[in-house]
Amino acid sequence: MSQTTYSYSSVDSISKSIPSFKLIVIQATSFCNLDCDYCYLPDRAIKEKISVDIIEAIFTKIFKSSFFRNNISVCWHAGEPLALSQKLYETFFLLINQLSEKYNVQDYKIRQNLQTNATLITQKWCDFFIRHKVSVGVSVDGPAFLHDRHRKTRKGIGSHAATLRGIRLLQQNQIPFRVITVLTQDSLDYPDEIFQFFLDHKISHVGFNVEEIEGIHRASSLQQEGTTERFRKFLQRWWELTKANIDPSISLREFEKIGSFIYHNKRIHRNDQTTPFEIVSIDTKGNFSTFSPELLSMPSPEYGDFILGNLKYDTFESVCNTEKFQRLYEAISIGVEQCRQSCQYFGFCGGGAPSNKYYENGAFQSTETMNCCLHQQAVVDTMLTNLEALLKVQ
Ligand code: SF4
Repeated sequence: MSQTTYSYSSVDSISKSIPSFKLIVIQATSFCNLDCDYCYLPDRAIKEKISVDIIEAIFTKIFKSSFFRNNISVCWHAGEPLALSQKLYETFFLLINQLSEKYNVQDYKIRQNLQTNATLITQKWCDFFIRHKVSVGVSVDGPAFLHDRHRKTRKGIGSHAATLRGIRLLQQNQIPFRVITVLTQDSLDYPDEIFQFFLDHKISHVGFNVEEIEGIHRASSLQQEGTTERFRKFLQRWWELTKANIDPSISLREFEKIGSFIYHNKRIHRNDQTTPFEIVSIDTKGNFSTFSPELLSMPSPEYGDFILGNLKYDTFESVCNTEKFQRLYEAISIGVEQCRQSCQYFGFCGGGAPSNKYYENGAFQSTETMNCCLHQQAVVDTMLTNLEALLKVQ
């Protein structure tokens, strides 16, 4: 493929190649009440919050954009979203609805989501989630002895009990939620304990993230020698536990995704982190970026940073013509093409996460990362091996 394929010089050619916005990640506050040791966010101790004016600029620009051509999800994240007052969210949501009535002429749906550590959930927040149909994601790393090793307050106190209190409130209010669990080296010896924790607490939808090297988190416990084999054993055990526990069952996001690809014989040639503007990340000041959400708040010697513009002054279309965007897009696209040509997992992965490539390999124009070896390749192999074994038995 020639280089001109990657390089786009007009909004038209960009918009032809982009289906639409899918996910808008908004940092309502940079602050987090916890201080997890694997967090990549540099400003999580700073109490910066988004203003009504910025929300107005964001949603006016989204609704008026030619990239807004489908239903979208908004996720309040990257800082603890519940550290902000509920009154402020009421104002934001009212304003978003008013702007939607005015500019969202196609009446596309705006789904509200929030990713929280759950420690600040109260009955009032539960009422709010129900009233505004907010989907909730909770970060919890399994049983207390694993969770509390990494997910601590600034005073060094484990947050497990407070997170469980929040989860119980969601359950008492029958608010469905999904869980994200970060796997570290510590977790890999305990698949049974983690699985049992989810069963005991009636948690049925789980996604695994791996401890990544990203932003200010420059080293991961998963870099240790022998981790890939340990990780594969962990996944194999998880598969066996899933097979043995049908009712109640625990659905794992990673198995679901690859299982659906296999079942529908579907393969991809890109993913939402390598396609511009499918994910848009916006910080408290209205600065925005695209591709991997983790790029937004990161400095970079080569690019300065990954901020493409500010929604007070710029539009999504206007930044497509900037040198910065085009350099970034070209570098990411070259990395995707390198993956396509060299990796047998490409059809399941679509070229990985640009942020992992940049922070692990030092360049977007690269292929394999620790993250993809564990989070993509090991999952695909676990599923294929076990499905083949199942087919042989039948
Ligand atoms: S699994 Fe890794 S090397 Fe393979 S396509 Fe994905 S990111 Fe590229």
